[in-house]
Amino acid sequence: MTIHTPTIIGLAGGIGSGKSTITKYFNELGIQSVDADDVARLVVEPGSDCLNEIHQRYGDDILLSNGSLNRRFLRDIIFDNPEEKIWLEALTHPAIRQEITAQLSAITSQYALLVHPLLFETKQDAICKWVIAIDVTADIQLQRVMNRDQISKESAEKILAAQLSNSERIDRADLVLENSGNIAEMNAKVLKLHQKILESLYI
Ligand code: ADP
Repeated sequence: MTIHTPTIIGLAGGIGSGKSTITKYFNELGIQSVDADDVARLVVEPGSDCLNEIHQRYGDDILLSNGSLNRRFLRDIIFDNPEEKIWLEALTHPAIRQEITAQLSAITSQYALLVHPLLFETKQDAICKWVIAIDVTADIQLQRVMNRDQISKESAEKILAAQLSNSERIDRADLVLENSGNIAEMNAKVLKLHQKILESLYI
């Protein structure tokens, strides 16, 4: 059986770099996307194999009263215990990869956008024709995360420190999208990138 897979363009950026905002505009331009954060939530939904394994390992405290995953609690466990992070990633990453592949193969737009905060870390850049890295100054990124998630500067810094830095991502990317300006500026840059990608599909 041949699985149809469209050309995949990766969109990589840390938390608060603007992935969701940028993706929304690609979607308005008619480009369908797969969001690894959404998939990561999907694979631990109540009833999933992954959530059952997590429940078995950490007990009832890991579940909220409605049976869904207490993400904050899990996040605290893996921040404080590197070996638990390894265990969790060994469990969830294969499930996430499988679901991403399934969702990508259902895409019918001219190309597919794979939006991933850990695109390089999980080696999924390998399936992308090009990777776009989002560049945003650390101060603006921190401020946007604190505003959006209503968390302290310390918590936001802790999350950012656990991810690749923007400069490391940019070094490995094919294209860079600077997102320290306003939304209109960002949209104009996305439109240019979109046109460049479309041109590359037909040469
Ligand atoms: P990510 O998906 O990478 O975590 P978001 O797209 O959610 O990031 O952006 C983080 C926050 O910053 C959101 O509240 C979003 O509205 C805001 N934001 C993103 N890009 C811009 C921009 N160019 N100008 C102003 N606010 C922005």
